[in-house]
Amino acid sequence: MVTLSAKVCLLGDYAVGKTSLVRRFVYNMFDDRYLSTIGVKVSRKIVALARGEQVVELTLMLWDLAGSEEFDSVRASYLRGAVAALIVCDLTQPSTLATAPQYAAQIRAVNPRAGLVLAANKLDLAEQRALTDEDVRAMARILGAPCLFTSAKNGDGVDEAFRDLGRLAIGA
Ligand code: GDP
Ligand code: MG
Repeated sequence: MVTLSAKVCLLGDYAVGKTSLVRRFVYNMFDDRYLSTIGVKVSRKIVALARGEQVVELTLMLWDLAGSEEFDSVRASYLRGAVAALIVCDLTQPSTLATAPQYAAQIRAVNPRAGLVLAANKLDLAEQRALTDEDVRAMARILGAPCLFTSAKNGDGVDEAFRDLGRLAIGA
């Protein structure tokens, strides 16, 4: 067995569910309130992943960045050292998918080889859904990223999204 750690970042517009996805994945909890993120919060979770014949015990260090403000030097320093990023959009807000390439550009500016996963979140809000599967898949193709449909509320797709991120981080 090999033990590794990887810094990964959560990126995406305000209120798409970045903090909620981390909370579901790490603590298996959900809160209906807006969980304001001040500055940056780092959470850790260990996942076991196969890489060829090996089992890799990977400590994911999940950097949850506040806001989606202009790309400044502070933000660049948060992203530095990240090997992968989860770009999150909200299936009920089409504008949050349209901004995905900006986040991809931000992370690729500091690490051109960063692995990306696109999470289309709030899958449980079926009535308010405003993006089709194909809308999300088309964007994922543009980004060169796998996409997962997730709900931080009921947990759908959440483990899969972070495990995909982990696999990209270790090159599995
Ligand atoms: P962030 O700004 O991207 O970190 O967004 P938050 O995680 O704080 O979530 C913003 C709001 O959306 C909060 O009220 C959450 O409870 C809610 N939310 C987040 N994920 C989901 C989800 O999958 N389903 C539903 N129904 N609400 C969600
Ligand atoms: Mg947040």
